[in-house]
Amino acid sequence: MPGYELWSDKERKEVNDVLNTGILMRYGFDGMRNGIWKSKELEAAICETFGTKHAQLVSSGTAALTTAMAALGIGYGDEVITPCFTFVASFEAIISVGATPVFADVDDTLTLDPLSVKKAITAKTKAIMPVHMCGSMADLDALSALCKEHNLILLEDACQSIGGSYKGKQLGSIGDAGTFSFDFVKTMTCAEGGVIMSNREDVFTHSDGYSDHGHDHKGVDRGADLHPFVGYNFRISELHSAVGLAQIKRLPEFLALQKKNHGALKEILAQIPGISFRRIPDPSGDSCSFISWFLPTEEITRAVVAELKAQGILAGNFYWFDNNWHYIRKWDHLKNGTTLNALHPDHKKAVMHHANKNFSASDAVMGRCISTAISLTWTEEQIIDKGNKIVAAVKKIMQEINALV
Ligand SMILES: *Cc1c(COP(=O)(O)O)cnc(C)c1O
Repeated sequence: MPGYELWSDKERKEVNDVLNTGILMRYGFDGMRNGIWKSKELEAAICETFGTKHAQLVSSGTAALTTAMAALGIGYGDEVITPCFTFVASFEAIISVGATPVFADVDDTLTLDPLSVKKAITAKTKAIMPVHMCGSMADLDALSALCKEHNLILLEDACQSIGGSYKGKQLGSIGDAGTFSFDFVKTMTCAEGGVIMSNREDVFTHSDGYSDHGHDHKGVDRGADLHPFVGYNFRISELHSAVGLAQIKRLPEFLALQKKNHGALKEILAQIPGISFRRIPDPSGDSCSFISWFLPTEEITRAVVAELKAQGILAGNFYWFDNNWHYIRKWDHLKNGTTLNALHPDHKKAVMHHANKNFSASDAVMGRCISTAISLTWTEEQIIDKGNKIVAAVKKIMQEINALV
């Protein structure tokens, strides 16, 4: 899964380039930096690697989502349709710009069910934000068609699917805008960081300004910059960009290892009786950072998770249904509208209303799902050992449950 597993001299070299000049900021200080512009270089590499016209680095994936929303003009009174299975950052960003997250169900793709999205569209809907969870993509043809039909923005939260693609295009490069996270556990890391990608000039100009206090960046003197709109500080530092620059050059290596280990483990897990795998709208575009698999019932799945835990082999296997970060069932802070800053009462009411809806269709999927994270450092023997242990644990549980009925 993550690039941090293969930390190397290449990352050290890029960081040292910055340490040698001492210019840790991405803007200004032109004379003192000896031509070292790691953030600019990384943005150019992102455009080239992912096939997007523009890229704006920021300090995190969450900042990237917030900036993208501001850049796209999403704000108070707007509804953004997003899945109930995602990382909390997705709804945090929506709320932060004053908009309301409207949660739709996920289907066996573990991403937005287009039918549920269609039902959620109202006169207030401004954007659809699919989240390409666990390395693989949402049904972008169906969602793009809905956006076109209803004149909505498509914003891809591609934070978890770096290197995945859909029908030949890189995830994150397809919508009006897309975001990646480069936090420590993502497919490539900056330690902390994120990016907004877009083919739209206006989205880029807005993102560039918004993430640096509204500066227009037109001159060489920061003090003389104009501020066409109110911004914020979501800047990335040169140290972080240096790490990312080394990592993006190694991305093909990471993705190839991921694919190889994914394939080997999946072949073993396929022996589990009654197993099925996540549906992937474009199987050739899977980034392979996880294998997500389903067992026949929630009861069996729970028992298997308990068995893996008892055997000390649960690490790296995620049962999102019980996870506090990724599935709506446990987002009590959101359901209760618990924020530190007061929200407008109408906004708070809308947020709470949508967080407390019925998600039984998603429960039926998530209750039976386990996602196994793929490590880049596994040996063939480790994969065989890991796979065989999981298969044996599931078979044991199924025998026990069958003996009861
Ligand atoms: C990691 C992640 C984010 C947020 O990224 P940070 O860099 O950790 O702020 C947003 N959305 C999803 C789906 C993520 O997995």
